[in-house]
Amino acid sequence: MSSLSSMSRRAFLQGIALAGVMGAMTFRPLRAAAPPATEATAGRAQQAPLFPQSPLMPQPFALLPTGSIKANGWLLRQLQIQADGLGGHLDEFWPIVGTDSGWSGGKGESWEDGPYFLDGLVPLAWQLDSPQLKAKAMRFIDWTLDHPWEDGMFGPRGNDDWWPRMVMLKVLTQYHELTGDPRVMPLMTRYFHHQLQALPGRPLRDWGRMRWQDELVSVLWLYQRTQDAALLELAHLLKKQGYDWQGMYAHFPFKEKTDADALRKQAGGSDAFMQDLGLQVHGVNVAQALKASPVWSVASGGTADREAIRHQLQMLDTYHGLPNGMFSADEHLAGRSPSQGTELCTVVETMYSLEVALAITGEAALGDRLERIAFNALPAALTDDMWAHQYNQQPNQVECSLHRQPWTTDGPESNLFGLEPNFRCCTANFHQGWPKFANSLWMATAGQGLAAMSYAPCTVATVVRNVPVTVEQSSDYPFRQSVSITMRPQRAVAFPLQLRMPAWSRGTRIAVNGKPVKATPGFTTIERTWAPGDTIELVFDPAVEVEHGYNGALSFCRGALVYALPIEEHWVVWRKRGPTHDWQVYPGSRWNVGIRPDASITVSEHPVGARPFAGATAAVQLALQGRYVPAWKASDGSADPVPAKPEPSDDEGVQSLTLVPYAGAKLRITAFPSLG
Ligand SMILES: [Zn+2]
Repeated sequence: MSSLSSMSRRAFLQGIALAGVMGAMTFRPLRAAAPPATEATAGRAQQAPLFPQSPLMPQPFALLPTGSIKANGWLLRQLQIQADGLGGHLDEFWPIVGTDSGWSGGKGESWEDGPYFLDGLVPLAWQLDSPQLKAKAMRFIDWTLDHPWEDGMFGPRGNDDWWPRMVMLKVLTQYHELTGDPRVMPLMTRYFHHQLQALPGRPLRDWGRMRWQDELVSVLWLYQRTQDAALLELAHLLKKQGYDWQGMYAHFPFKEKTDADALRKQAGGSDAFMQDLGLQVHGVNVAQALKASPVWSVASGGTADREAIRHQLQMLDTYHGLPNGMFSADEHLAGRSPSQGTELCTVVETMYSLEVALAITGEAALGDRLERIAFNALPAALTDDMWAHQYNQQPNQVECSLHRQPWTTDGPESNLFGLEPNFRCCTANFHQGWPKFANSLWMATAGQGLAAMSYAPCTVATVVRNVPVTVEQSSDYPFRQSVSITMRPQRAVAFPLQLRMPAWSRGTRIAVNGKPVKATPGFTTIERTWAPGDTIELVFDPAVEVEHGYNGALSFCRGALVYALPIEEHWVVWRKRGPTHDWQVYPGSRWNVGIRPDASITVSEHPVGARPFAGATAAVQLALQGRYVPAWKASDGSADPVPAKPEPSDDEGVQSLTLVPYAGAKLRITAFPSLG
């Protein structure tokens, strides 16, 4: 404080606030040695969740601290597949996140890829309690925490972009919840104070400007732990400099498939279109922005802000919605044809936005959507062993080969399965999908209770009303419809338990210790004293639902799963990529069939396989009949848009068809011409 006289009042106040925060946290010198590995990586005892306090807006649910929920059953197998695949080995052969990464002190990649990789590796490593994966994560975390800049910045010196730090902040908040490492909060505090001073002169730009809401999540996270008023000031500055997503959706001009020419036209011929218009319709930006209005509402207190996500989703569904629960973005918004693609980054970022938004808004419908994406679009974009992924997936995907059409702006490798098809972002970013989904299955409720938000087998360890509580949930949902929950509080404790009721379940049955409980739409609340061993049985009641989409095309869903006609697949290695390959996939069977909307459908169940979403062991099948539509063809490797008035073949009779869960069919038809 020796130069106090030359400091502005604002900087002085920030200095005071910073000192206060540091004091409250038993601040260690910045270059203090890391805590011993056992302390830093062992995982913490059960923690109570934090809810926003005044002046922040109350919210109905809060995510449990990372590490509170452990996967079981098929979900644990899925996480293990990820760890055995690219998730646990990428750094061993992909230099972008290898030993030369700028995020571990090297001279290599210093932008978003290191943080992207960690955003999934950190929760995965602790989910599986894997010493090897934790050590991989700690190489980056230790370097980042031990090498802040003198002025409060952190991360690689060769890059001062705000954007990759927004991702790293998400990593650090999860890591702190997992370990309580005392280096995290001082680093974040210093960084946010630095940013508050620096942003007026070096404002948010391009990616950071479109993705400000992701940083806001971390700013509010720290505010809840330190009550540092400067963080609220920063929240408002981020909003002011960030792109106005709510304003854009208020008049939503992007109702058609966009491409570079269309965007250039909208920009009045200016070549600046990619800097601005292009970023507004960029799929990953749009996905991340789904959390913008709910997250901002926590700071603003505005109910209209909170509810704006509904309109946002409605606009995307209306003009760009696809049957897999996503919107088209290949990689700009691409209209409703099921031959358009969606980028894998867009899938995982939409999931994360929905997880955050579900907590803040409490809208059960967001849980329905999250499940549809998690159980369909996410596993569809990866091979069953998670050693290769697609950049773009298509609901109607009849060939994965080098082709320029029908993408808005993406390149010819976009729907190949491989190490880094088209561009490398998804290679680093997909890892967050499953681990964060696992962490959002249960949440705390504002009424000091617990809520089941999405369904998958897991064990929750948390604290409710000061009583340690373990909840065990076993289920083969979404492949089966029953869910068993066993409550194991350390001692009997009264609290409300809320269960999300999927809107598609017509007659959900609930029983507590064998006694029926009435299900109510949205959430069913059960208020009682929970004793060790109390059980809850849930049985959902799905019908096969026929959804009408682009050109009246028919899609078939049952419960949380979307179904598709698998096309015989011929996998051809296109390039060897170290321990993995880039693949093209060619069709070996006909796919151009139409179906009547009133087709009779038979459901059959089969064992859930070791790889839960693998098409070869489809856990559920739908049998129905259709007819060939010969005029419906493919061009340039993609199915032509579904015909609005299909003419079935007179020469060929009725065909028996078997549909399988969407993700298992890497070549597939999901939206069929309607023969109605
Ligand atoms: Zn990507």
